[in-house]
Amino acid sequence: MPRLKADFCTEDAVDTPYWWDAAQPAKATPDDIKATTEVAIVGGGFTGLNAALVLARAGKEVTIYDAEAPGWGASSRNGGFLGPGWAFFDTAMAYGPDVARRVVEESFLSLQYVKDVVATEGLDCDLKVMGYFKGATAPRVYDKLGRMIDRINKVMPCDAYMVPRAAQHAEIGTDLYHGGISMPGYAGIQPAKYARELARAATRLGVRIHSGAKVSDIRPDNGGLRFRVAGRDVVAKQVLLATNGYSASVSPYLKRRIIPVGSGLVATEPLPPDLMARLMPKQQLLAGSQRVVTYFRPSPDGTRIILGGRVLDMSGRHETNVANARYIRSLLVKIFPELAQTKITHYWHGQLGFTFDGMPHVKQIDGLHFAGGYNGTGVARASWLGSRVAHGMMGSAEGSTVYSGLNFETRPYVHGRAWFYPLAVMYYGMLDKWDRRGL
Ligand SMILES: Cc1cc2nc3c(=O)[nH]c(=O)nc-3n(C[C@H](O)[C@H](O)[C@H](O)COP(=O)(O)OP(=O)(O)OC[C@H]3O[C@@H](n4cnc5c(N)ncnc54)[C@H](O)[C@@H]3O)c2cc1C
Repeated sequence: MPRLKADFCTEDAVDTPYWWDAAQPAKATPDDIKATTEVAIVGGGFTGLNAALVLARAGKEVTIYDAEAPGWGASSRNGGFLGPGWAFFDTAMAYGPDVARRVVEESFLSLQYVKDVVATEGLDCDLKVMGYFKGATAPRVYDKLGRMIDRINKVMPCDAYMVPRAAQHAEIGTDLYHGGISMPGYAGIQPAKYARELARAATRLGVRIHSGAKVSDIRPDNGGLRFRVAGRDVVAKQVLLATNGYSASVSPYLKRRIIPVGSGLVATEPLPPDLMARLMPKQQLLAGSQRVVTYFRPSPDGTRIILGGRVLDMSGRHETNVANARYIRSLLVKIFPELAQTKITHYWHGQLGFTFDGMPHVKQIDGLHFAGGYNGTGVARASWLGSRVAHGMMGSAEGSTVYSGLNFETRPYVHGRAWFYPLAVMYYGMLDKWDRRGL
């Protein structure tokens, strides 16, 4: 395990996900890569694995190729916040009320979908309905959140409600926020366990999963597709690209449309139970309302705090990991000043896949199928859209989703590297400061 050495880290701190302590993505490859497969899935995260389950259940011969290992990408690195992601609602309004209504509908369906898959396949992944409180960083943000809930309720009743500042300590042990919004239906999940269990379920259904299998050079071949993987040529009738924030190497089209954005997390050392009870009285998922988001939660065993935020640098070198960890830990101390002396045991980061319209997309591109662009909210959506795209590949009406009808935009001078990202963070950071002006 790579060690993370700094004064704010424990002796045995590492720069791998806390989740991997219980479920490290397995690198084992069953046997040789075959020269043909009916359906090839590139990427073994929540999108690819859920698609594989649907296709295999329908009797298709399915092979997953992952450049690293199944679950290695964002799917085993995320915060494990499993919810409808209502923030998409306002973004969807740009497409009109009908699209926005369908987005809300699919948001609820995606949450239910994961609960159903976990129950049906018997997946051991610490799924628990915990609730979610988002703290408003200013009184005007509190009002704005209230108006958003009113708008959603006009489309479809939702269980969210506002919590005024006076009642906030029942939700979280900080004075940083000005009240907030409570969303009781949100669940927490151990994402690396969920990915591992999905891979096991897919294997049980006959899906072949190859690790260390980077796919390249995908091209048409006699009505199907041919590609290179691990020094071999493989021919498939259909190919699904399930690479989300890691798409740049596999598709020039996606390189211009999926913006890879880094997000990092830290896990604290175990905290005394009375302190945990004071800081997180409901043991729920938590976040601040900033555009440059900070999100945090208790570990599934309730002993530690896991907190995520933006990363300053994604190179992965030891010194930049230390700088990222120091910055993310500083966000934790800002929320909970009494953790000023608390050390961290884990720091890690992963890549989100953003899009220019802020919406996920399901598309067919030159004969290739794609689902992705979850804009940082993909635990439920990637699972759901993985299943939808699989139904769509089989020509079934169940493949219908609002995300297949949207225009998948790009911008001039965008060729994979998110050179504009620091500017965007600066801009959104300024808007966050503007929200708090005068306070
Ligand atoms: C740090 C972080 C925190 C997050 N927190 C949350 C959260 O709390 N809640 C939430 O809803 N969402 C969250 N997300 C987003 C969510 O994790 C993702 O949207 C989701 O996991 C995407 O799944 P995926 O299967 O599409 O992609 P990924 O899981 O990223 O999988 C893509 C896979 O493609 C493989 N790959 C890439 N190129 C190739 C190639 N050429 N050949 C073969 N394989 C290839 C990679 O190795 C990788 O395993 C977070 C993301 C990150 C990074």
